[in-house]
Amino acid sequence: MQAIYLIRVGELALKGDNRSFFEKKLKQNIRKNLGVKGCRVLNRQGRFYVEAPEEHAPQVERALAHTFGIVSYSRASRVQKDMQVIRRTAMKLIQELYPQRQEPLSFKIEARRTDKSFPLNSYQIACDLGDLLREEFSFLRVDVHRPELKIFIEIREEAFLYGGLKAGLGGLPVGSAGRGMLMLSGGIDSPVAGYMMAKRGLKLDFIYFHTYPYTSEEALDKVKHLSEILGTYCNGGTLFVVPFTEVQLEINRKVKPEEITLVMRAAMVKIAAMAAESRGAGALITGEALSQVASQTIQSISFTGSATELPIFRPLIGLDKEEIIRLAREIETFETSILPYDDCCTIFSSEHPLLRPDRRYMWKLWEEIGIEELLAEAFHKSQGFYVDPMEGISEHSS
Ligand code: ATP
Ligand code: MG
Repeated sequence: MQAIYLIRVGELALKGDNRSFFEKKLKQNIRKNLGVKGCRVLNRQGRFYVEAPEEHAPQVERALAHTFGIVSYSRASRVQKDMQVIRRTAMKLIQELYPQRQEPLSFKIEARRTDKSFPLNSYQIACDLGDLLREEFSFLRVDVHRPELKIFIEIREEAFLYGGLKAGLGGLPVGSAGRGMLMLSGGIDSPVAGYMMAKRGLKLDFIYFHTYPYTSEEALDKVKHLSEILGTYCNGGTLFVVPFTEVQLEINRKVKPEEITLVMRAAMVKIAAMAAESRGAGALITGEALSQVASQTIQSISFTGSATELPIFRPLIGLDKEEIIRLAREIETFETSILPYDDCCTIFSSEHPLLRPDRRYMWKLWEEIGIEELLAEAFHKSQGFYVDPMEGISEHSS
């Protein structure tokens, strides 16, 4: 038997001439997320369907629940265009959705007939099925204005019945807005920031600055795992692991303790911009939130942001920590993020970092310490990992 899913898309339907581009991306992304053979993704008259062998139904549901651009989806039944069959199917649908239900439930039938040769019109179909279901299931009450359950019937090349919408993630298909490089630290914030930008259609790659042995192998494992979790939402990506120890030690030697964090941040931004260029990414993404720590004041962000010409997206800038944590739990990165391994920022930061750096002073200092070559070298030595949305992470072949 084939399982059929009907998919509703939201904002992407509003994109005018670009619509077919968005639809194509969405189809590609669903296919990639399915990762199983024998499934078909169809797009007919503005409706998306997935058809899959019954045994793959769980993978299909998982894929649809992880694909940006999908507002909701429903398991549908496709049957003959025969009122007897349609009636039986509608009853089965209610039984499956509410096997034990006693308390009242309001419902409405939404019928649509594109095949005008079908003997009943939409209104007649709705009345016929509405009456039948009310008689058969004593808990059902008709409410055409604010029903708790909508049962949809569509009479097209065949008849489709479905109810019980499951919520999708919304947003736009990953890749429809170009590419971004996520600075992924292993903390709570940056994975959430990456998720938010992928939701707006960015295809992500990830970059992590590894200060071994000051930060442990476990810290790196944590980042790898976070990129795997993010990869399930954004069709995988590439993780760059940059050996940052030499850069960090050179900075520590050459600047005052209170300047270390900011100079280190600027160095990270510059290397991330190199990685972005190598992947054709047009923006960097960080998990910064205004005033969360010393390096996230207006003056600090203004300095580190001026280390690149690329725009830096900071989707968490106006969120409280509590809100970020709620999101991290929702996207299932929280438990990994809170594993207790130090990051370089805490190890090397001074007790009294600069809060209001002067940009001109900082860039003059930057010129004096002359670490640009070291940065290029660190990027050159970075290790690439391929993140597959289904299989997880593996070392890059190239
Ligand atoms: P997070 O929870 O994401 O670690 P944070 O609140 O700890 O953020 P900072 O440590 O100041 O904030 O880092 C700010 C941002 O800089 C991070 O959100 C991340 O995008 C980037 N960043 C910091 N450290 C690293 C690192 N080692 N590798 C890659 N990016 C980093
Ligand atoms: Mg951090």
